[in-house]
Amino acid sequence: MKLALVHHGSAIVLGEEPWRLKDLLPADQLGLGRLHLEAAEATDDGWLQLALSGGQRQRVRDPRRGAPPVRLLLRNVGQLLTMERTADDPLGVRHDVQLLCKDGVIERVLPQGEDCEIDERTTVLDAGGNLVSPGLVDPHTHPVFAGERSLEFGLKAAGASYLEIHKAGGGLFKTVEATRAASFEQLQERCRHNVGRLLSFGVTTLEGKSGYALEAQGELRMLEVLRAVDGCHPLDIVPTLLGAHALPKELSERRDEYVAQIAEVMVPEAASQGLARYCDAYCEDGAFTAAEVETIFRAAQAAGLGLRLHAEQFTHQGGAELAARMGAASADHLEAVSDAAIEAMAASKTTAVLLPGAALTCRAPWPPAKALVEAGVPLALGTDLNPGSSMTANLPLQMSLACMQMGVSCEQAWQAVTVEAARCLGLDDRGVISEGKLADLVIFDVDDYRTIPYHYGENHARVVVKRGRVVWGR
Ligand code: ZN
Repeated sequence: MKLALVHHGSAIVLGEEPWRLKDLLPADQLGLGRLHLEAAEATDDGWLQLALSGGQRQRVRDPRRGAPPVRLLLRNVGQLLTMERTADDPLGVRHDVQLLCKDGVIERVLPQGEDCEIDERTTVLDAGGNLVSPGLVDPHTHPVFAGERSLEFGLKAAGASYLEIHKAGGGLFKTVEATRAASFEQLQERCRHNVGRLLSFGVTTLEGKSGYALEAQGELRMLEVLRAVDGCHPLDIVPTLLGAHALPKELSERRDEYVAQIAEVMVPEAASQGLARYCDAYCEDGAFTAAEVETIFRAAQAAGLGLRLHAEQFTHQGGAELAARMGAASADHLEAVSDAAIEAMAASKTTAVLLPGAALTCRAPWPPAKALVEAGVPLALGTDLNPGSSMTANLPLQMSLACMQMGVSCEQAWQAVTVEAARCLGLDDRGVISEGKLADLVIFDVDDYRTIPYHYGENHARVVVKRGRVVWGR
């Protein structure tokens, strides 16, 4: 029986539901998102015949019938960060252990010398006595965009003003124009490339936003790009609608109209089509006011979306207070956050997602990480990967900047890119290495966790494991 393809060839309809290519093929056969489905057929004896892009064919078991167990044994781990914190050990460090994973989840952590049965279905991997951590989680990225802004960077570096850059055709609207003009396939390829760069630094889950179309159909198309890439890529993407990234030029005199378009069209459409899990906005002088964001957030809550907010990046707008008051999962940036807002965030347990790369690029003051942590605000770190203010996929570099410039300890930096980043995305199945959690792991080429922020700017990831399969290595 021929099966219907959906979501731009990233999924098929099996029974009532769409099944993503990543649910059908093991992580190490997904080709880092290069493959998509061109046709699929179900046979009577419980197999699926998949025709993939590039002329490849695959025969796989119907996933509803279950599959034989797949095991991974990771031996010779010198230092393991379990992230199961205790009073005197914030990272739950274990030494000289081995890790047994089954069907994509962690089964057991056991001492290096202990015997465990290996069969022909067990892949054995040697960590060479090095550091192993949970797969990193990046809670703030903008991976879907088209175009190029290096000329603008050159102008800025040479001292050009905002107005001069604007006149030269630079700024966010340059990306909006290019993104609107790009084909779905072009956006998908660029997004796949950005996601692959994050993976190479050890990221196995990321949050990705729309926000460069600034009109309903274009914003939904960006979310569809994220869904298509997520469906074909071993890495997991948590999608966020960011229609309120900037006011589109054509509605610059009619801001109420655009806010209404977000609240009444984009939010309900994105939610009902399952295209977004969160709604975000940019609360800043020149972008959206706290009152406008509140209108958008009320619609998002009514539609069942979680909330995140770009808040207090350059000026104090009351965004962080609003985020805390409305129970947002995170308030991000916070370079200009007030003491009162810090207290409000601590009381509501709204995570502070700090983005050192954006502060560095914008020559902004560093966000007050130490004050946030001391007040009891949960802390996460992201790359803010985007073409304007943070062109990097290097999440460990953000740990270095936080430790060197923002008063963050090495232990806090590690929590901020694993367990805390996962928690602020509503994911409790990852960011921690313990029985039953996803087998998302990174083997680094160093022996001690402090070396990652200390030896900065380089990529120390050696092997990345997603759901118990090696998906990247060198
Ligand atoms: Zn951002």
